[in-house]
Order: sequence, then C-alpha cells, then structure tokens
Amino acid sequence: MLRLPVSRISSCKVTKIVSVTFARGVQTTSGDTLGEKPKSRHYDIIIAGGGLVGTTLACSLGKNKILGEKNILLLEGGPKFKGFSGGEYANRVSALNNGTINLFKSIGAWDTIASARYKPVKQMHVWDASSHASITFNHDNFSADIATIIENDLVLHAVYEQLQKTPNVEVKYEARIEDVKLPGSGANKSEIAMKGGDKLTCDLLVGADGINSLVRKRMNIEPFTINYNQMGLVATVELSDSGDNSVAWQRFLPTGPVALLPLNDTTSSLVWTHTPAQAKELQSMPPQEFVDALNDAFYKDYPKDTMTTNLMDTLSTFCSAKTIRQYPPAIVAVKDKSRACFPLGFGHAPSYVAQGAALVGDAAHRVHPLAGQGVNLGFGDVKCLTQVLADAVYSGYPIGDKNALLKYERERLMKNVPIMFGIHGLQQLYSTTFSPVVMLRSLGLQITQNLPPLKKIFMQQAMG
Ligand SMILES: Cc1cc2nc3c(=O)[nH]c(=O)nc-3n(C[C@H](O)[C@H](O)[C@H](O)COP(=O)(O)OP(=O)(O)OC[C@H]3O[C@@H](n4cnc5c(N)ncnc54)[C@H](O)[C@@H]3O)c2cc1C
Repeated sequence: MLRLPVSRISSCKVTKIVSVTFARGVQTTSGDTLGEKPKSRHYDIIIAGGGLVGTTLACSLGKNKILGEKNILLLEGGPKFKGFSGGEYANRVSALNNGTINLFKSIGAWDTIASARYKPVKQMHVWDASSHASITFNHDNFSADIATIIENDLVLHAVYEQLQKTPNVEVKYEARIEDVKLPGSGANKSEIAMKGGDKLTCDLLVGADGINSLVRKRMNIEPFTINYNQMGLVATVELSDSGDNSVAWQRFLPTGPVALLPLNDTTSSLVWTHTPAQAKELQSMPPQEFVDALNDAFYKDYPKDTMTTNLMDTLSTFCSAKTIRQYPPAIVAVKDKSRACFPLGFGHAPSYVAQGAALVGDAAHRVHPLAGQGVNLGFGDVKCLTQVLADAVYSGYPIGDKNALLKYERERLMKNVPIMFGIHGLQQLYSTTFSPVVMLRSLGLQITQNLPPLKKIFMQQAMG
C-alpha cells in the first residue's frame, strides 16, 4: 500500500517555562518546578537522557528535513552542562571512528570540534604481555586516520551549539524522569511522570538513559549482563618524547588491558583496567608511585608462556614479514586530579523497541572499552534511528509505530551484536594466562598481523 506523507500528529505547541542561556548559549528550560503547579504537555518525541548519545540524537532528529516539524524534548536528570573550557584536557575522552565523525559533520558539529582540538590516530599498536605476539593497525603509508580522539565534553559542547540552532528541540536539565507508562499498559501515548509532579506525554519515547535505563525497564526488556568485576582507571598523562604522538598503544596484561590514547604531542589519555580494589589503590597512590607503576605496566617483562614462545619461534622462520616491537614513550607525570575509576561490564537488551518506545546507546548495549567501540555503536544507533523515523514519517506511519521501529531494531542488532560479542570474546581471551589459551590468542594475533586482507576486515569493522 502506498502511504502519503502526513503532517505532524501532535497539535500541541511548545511553550517554554523558563528560558535561560548557559555557557555558550544553548536554550534550555529548567526542570525545577518548585512552587509551580505541575504541568502536563505533549511532545512528538521525548528523549530520556542527555548523555553523548541522547543529545546527539536530539540534534540529528531536530535537523532532519522530514522530521523538522516534530516537537522534540530532551530530558536530562543531571545538572546543566557547563560547556567546554578548552583549558586542561578532560580525563573522559573517546576514540571515535569515521562513521561517528561523518555523523558530526552531517549535524554541523564537526567544525566546532575541529576548530577546538582533536587528535587523529595514525596507527594502533597492540601487544600481549604473556607472549611475543603483537599487531599494528594502520592504513597504507598512514594515508588515513584509524580513529580520532576527542574529549567527551567537547563533543557535547559542539552538539549543544547546534541544538541552539534547532528550534523544534527543547532541552530540560535537572529533569529526572520518575516513572514511565508505555502504550499497551493502559495508555494510548507514552506517559512520563517527572520528579516535581509534571506529567508529559509523547508519541515516541527514546531511552538514552544509560546502563540502568528506566525506559528499558518499563519496556519489560531484561538485558543480558555480565559484571567483569573490573574498573577502568582513566587519567591524563605527560610523555617524555615530543614526537608527533599519533599512535594508540594497548598492552594486554594478566590483570587487564592498559591503553594510551594520544591527545597532543606530549599528552595522552590513559584507560587502565584493574580489579576494583587495585584500581582504587592506583587512584589514591602518590603521583610518582603511580607513574612508576604505569611505566612498569608498559615496559615490565612479564613471564612468557614457554609453549607459545616455542611455537612462535618456529613459525617466525616461515614468515617473511617480521613484526618490529614498538614501545610507547615513557610517562613522566600524571595530571593532578585527573585520575578517576568507572565500573566495566557487558550488557545487551535482546530487543530495542516496543510500541511507542526505542532504546539507543548504553541503554541498549554496553561493552568493555578495550576496543573503543561503546559510544560509536551508540552513534550508529542515532544515524539509523533518524533514518528509520524519517522514512516512517514520509511513508505515513505514526512516529511511535512499532512496525516501523522494528526496522531500526533489525538493522542495529545485525550491526551491534557481532561487534559486541567480538569485544567480549577478546576480553575473555585475554583474561587468562592458561597456556593453551595464550597460545591460541597469540597465534590468532600473529596470523592476523601477517594477513593484511584479514587485518583490513577487522579495521573496517572498527572504523564504522
Ligand atoms: C573508561 C571508559 C572509556 C571509554 N572509552 C570509549 C572510547 O574510547 N570509545 C567509545 O566508543 N566508547 C568508549 N566508552 C563508552 C562510552 O563512554 C559510553 O558508551 C557512552 O558514554 C554512553 O553514552 P550514553 O549517552 O548512551 O549513556 P550515558 O553517558 O550513561 O548517558 C545517560 C544519561 O541519561 C541520564 N539519565 C539516566 N536516567 C535518567 C532519568 N531517569 N531521567 C533523566 N535522565 C536520566 C543520565 O544523567 C545521563 O546523562 C568508554 C567507557 C568507559 C567507562
């Protein structure tokens, strides 16, 4: 059946309660309703959660030509975003792939990032502390970047700047969603109860509310989760060399991976996986002791698995392409107050949609940061959901129609699941010093290193 485009479903006009301009000028409304009568309003789309993914989704939907007439509300439970200052490097950074950079370009946010600061990664070097296996990823003659390192706050800042130019999107801070009732559970529209008493309704509620998503719970979706009992210790560190620092380094230690992501010629960002107790101990260690422990993590000679060493020595006699072992520059200092710890885990919602609701980002899927893919998958959701909703509206479907949303679910499950289980597999493979496993993973790494077409496939997957 041919469906004709329909005009907006909602007839409600958005009227802002309190308009304030923050840091670099994004129009927001306060979620604080103290002393005001609770209000009730309707939106076409409400996005729960203004993290990296929810904020970018609001911008991507708001700027889409077909969805441009929809009124959209972004609700963030946390305080107003302070903006990006550009001083000291922040300790939360992300390795972003080309697919994500293209998304930023398409919503107009890239120019702001590019004129502030970002660091292209030309090569990634990964090696195993329990064997001599190692791998390097780069394009021929370093002709293209394999990732781009950007501070999370700068991404948010650049996207908010674009939201300011997107009149059909309203942003509310300190706007905590207390409960949600989805269509099918006694309501026609999704109903949202806010802290403070306001009631909101919408045709489509998008859960971008992170790993403990309330929207996901109300969709009755039980995620598959694994607690790694690990923490990611992040910090900003100073390097001894002032080369061009365009290599990302990762060493798999028996305790978990340690990675350095370049920020500028002499500064890198650290992500170091440990048990919660070890991570906390490292976080509170005196700075020089911490720097020594970190240099050990990259340079110390760990006992090598004998079976694997013998096998790899034999194989290397047949192999023409020899791997040159490289090491990162020594770390000389850790930036004051830059150390922080984050729990790590795996989580996947078996379904991403319901009538009137959809999930994006960590609310739908959570991975270990060892491959730098978590938020890239979330940005992939943003691109896909924007396209699916635009197609649905163009074809005359109501915006929260589950049949239309199922296309989003199918496409993202196909993309996310193999990457997620690949990352989980790597996490498991490198969590042991059991000899046969060390041999298997070292063999796999070395075969991939020596088979450029196979290496290219892995790179293409990671680069989005
Ligand atoms: C140490 C570390 C390093 C990482 N490095 C990388 C990397 O290099 N590359 C990469 O791709 N990924 C990386 N990731 C993963 C990435 O950080 C996450 O995937 C990403 O931050 C998830 O963003 P999100 O917007 O989906 O969720 P979140 O950032 O969790 O945002 C959810 C938002 O929802 C709000 N919220 C929650 N509940 C409510 C409610 N009831 N009402 C209103 N608001 C609510 C919260 O306040 C929050 O702002 C890393 C993760 C860690 C821990």
